[in-house]
Amino acid sequence: MVKVYYNGDINEAVLTNKKVAIVGYGSQGHAHAQNLRDSGYEVVIGLRQGKSWTQAVQDGFEVKSVREASADADVIMILLPDEYQPQVYKNEIEPELSSGKALAFAHGFNVHFNQVVPPSDVDVFLVAPKGPGHLVRRTYEEGAGVPALFAVYQDVTGKAKDTALAYAKGIGAGRAGILETSFQEETETDLFGEQAVLCGGTTALVKAGFETLVEAGYQPEVAYFECLHELKLIVDLMYEGGLENMRYSISDTAQWGDFVSGPRVVNADTKQRMKEVLEDIQTGKFAKGWLLENQLNRPEFNAINNRENKHQIEVVGRKLREMMPFVKKQSKKEVAAGAK
Ligand code: NDP
Ligand code: MG
Ligand code: MG
Repeated sequence: MVKVYYNGDINEAVLTNKKVAIVGYGSQGHAHAQNLRDSGYEVVIGLRQGKSWTQAVQDGFEVKSVREASADADVIMILLPDEYQPQVYKNEIEPELSSGKALAFAHGFNVHFNQVVPPSDVDVFLVAPKGPGHLVRRTYEEGAGVPALFAVYQDVTGKAKDTALAYAKGIGAGRAGILETSFQEETETDLFGEQAVLCGGTTALVKAGFETLVEAGYQPEVAYFECLHELKLIVDLMYEGGLENMRYSISDTAQWGDFVSGPRVVNADTKQRMKEVLEDIQTGKFAKGWLLENQLNRPEFNAINNRENKHQIEVVGRKLREMMPFVKKQSKKEVAAGAK
């Protein structure tokens, strides 16, 4: 069984009197910055002029350009969107990465796929909360935390692991549990999970179910409830107590249907496709496609996104949700971030 670190296992001395630069003040950035400050650390925010800058100032932080913040800090945590990290790193962070500093990430993508190549004389680690930034902040305020993964990529000071754990404790993850991983494992499993199961797999399953019912002549509104709306209730039960807990709560008829029909829908062929998806992640093929797509200003991403937003399940869903005020609209960011 993997070792899980809690607050009591962590000696934060290695991080006391160190200055932490949080680069980016979005979903993760605001949460890390505020939690670290409340845990007693000195935090400086690195940003460009814009919306986040104003927000960070309003929240009482010292805000500087990314370059100045990086120059100021001992630990530099990069919390920009993954697509923009390589360029900002090259222009503004790397020139200030003097020997012995620590460079940190919340996702291993850019380091693992060589888009950011850190110098050999700095510590490099990641702390990846397994939840969206707003939850990282809210649970911290409630005295709890969101679990996190950590990994050390490069340890020149001999203290990289302690620093990563102290950082994770500072954002509240030590109250929930911190697990060790590697940059490779974190990156590949994160990408696979969101592609095959959490986002890609689920949206494809929901749409296929909806289309099957509508094509058979059933009302789209009814199909929407059966194939999308109720999914949340099922997922909540699995989250609380695994598959067994969910199956305990549903009817025996539903459970029998689960046993006999589930494996007909998601079968050995599906698993073979999943292996192919994983292979594209492992070989770097997926990363290459996504990096090129971004360099070309996302022509395919935008085309698919527009088409998807017009799907019948979306049109019907928008109308139905307007009639259901109890379905609280989360921020788009928070929903998207749930995939992490
Ligand atoms: P967001 O998109 O929420 O953060 C965007 C922030 O970056 C904003 O403050 C934005 O400022 C700033 N920014 C964007 N471009 C630049 C630039 N060129 N120079 C300076 N600042 C810039 O990112 P996330 O928090 O979602 O993701 C950050 C990292 O955390 C990623 O590595 C991600 O994989 C990882 N992660 C994210 C999770 C999540 O919950 N979202 C969960 C776990 C890990 P402005 O207002 O000026 O645009
Ligand atoms: Mg039913
Ligand atoms: Mg991800």
